[in-house]
Amino acid sequence: MTYVIIRHNSSGMGDLTVASDGTRNQATPFDPMMGQLEVIEPGLAMFHGFANVAFAYGRGEMLAVDTSSRAMGAMAVKAIREITDEPFAFLIYTHGHGDHAFGTDAFLEDAASRGFRRPKIWAHEDVSGRFHRYAMTRGWQAQINQLQFGARAPVDGIFDEKSLRYADLAYRDYQMLELMGEAVELHHARGETDDATWVWMPTRRTAMIGDLIVSSLPNTGNPNKVQRFTLGWAEALEAIARKRPRYVLPGHGPAYRGEEACQELLIETAHALRFIHDEVVRRLNAGQWPVEIVEANIELPADLAAKPFLAPIYGCVPFVVRDVIRCYAGWWSGEPSAMFPAPRRERAADILALCGRDAVLTRARMLRDEGNLQRALALAETALNADACDREAMELNADILEKLAARERSFIARNFFAGAARSLRDRLK
Ligand SMILES: [Zn+2]
Repeated sequence: MTYVIIRHNSSGMGDLTVASDGTRNQATPFDPMMGQLEVIEPGLAMFHGFANVAFAYGRGEMLAVDTSSRAMGAMAVKAIREITDEPFAFLIYTHGHGDHAFGTDAFLEDAASRGFRRPKIWAHEDVSGRFHRYAMTRGWQAQINQLQFGARAPVDGIFDEKSLRYADLAYRDYQMLELMGEAVELHHARGETDDATWVWMPTRRTAMIGDLIVSSLPNTGNPNKVQRFTLGWAEALEAIARKRPRYVLPGHGPAYRGEEACQELLIETAHALRFIHDEVVRRLNAGQWPVEIVEANIELPADLAAKPFLAPIYGCVPFVVRDVIRCYAGWWSGEPSAMFPAPRRERAADILALCGRDAVLTRARMLRDEGNLQRALALAETALNADACDREAMELNADILEKLAARERSFIARNFFAGAARSLRDRLK
């Protein structure tokens, strides 16, 4: 048996190796700017970059599912060009996120330089609305993506209208394409995004599904992003499972091989989402306010929590809980003081007037030293809210945030903590 080492997901999102029998192990992190092509079987390949690109080829023309990011599109093209000279008939976006649909120029340039006709770009009809929204809010998009992916993320200009490659052709619910006579089905889903497409190639029994699988707990409820769809995500995975794929090629993480492994992946991920969804809905129906549901600390059952493909290494359960709450409830937490909140600076000053600044900082340090980092942060943040220039409070906040980042498994939460600490350290300089 050959042992394929796939290094992907550099930034802690997967960091797995996978053997050709589908077993997975933790591996060392790798450089995000490296990509690697894996041939799944003749005519089927996947490029592993920050996000993956799936290729079907071998009968005269090929298709690519996703085009990777602005930085990695050319790497994906170069990698597949070492395997085949076939022209691209289609480029299909699984959704409009930048790590999946912003590498298109490299594919179009490849066609032009080889004298091939320009490939047709297919996407769900809501991808264009997403692109317009990105262009309209490009400053905000740059800010939140830089924070989410860490300071290294290149974001300059990538959300500008002129750099977005809109689809040539869009569909609503279902679309059938033909690749040299072979059926290619596009199915719409609402999961990580409202504009998701999963691709089914029935003769190969292969599902190319973008971020409906991210090889970790599905990232619904991303703290800075628009509404996601926990229940729709579960339903999409169940629909894919009903096709009984032999291969599942996801947007992030390893390729999944064999009907049994694919069923487990799809069904158990759907179970996890349905479990959290149903628990939140039960609590809402019982009259609980969002703040009470958040404080209930809902957890997955142990058997689901132990699945390697549900590890909370990108998103995490509390984010999913927030997504479900937001899907069915408004913005109010249920705390009366939060309806028209007094300014943070005034509320913090009231606390400090009662106990004194030094006592607040002392207690925050004590909680930190006991490992109660969230409570320590709440107090340290109160001191900083009362006086944004208090250097000792800044120092303490940065220290607690760094400790929170060091123990945090979720890539997104970790980057938020580390980013907040970094900006305090910058101000202290
Ligand atoms: Zn993605």
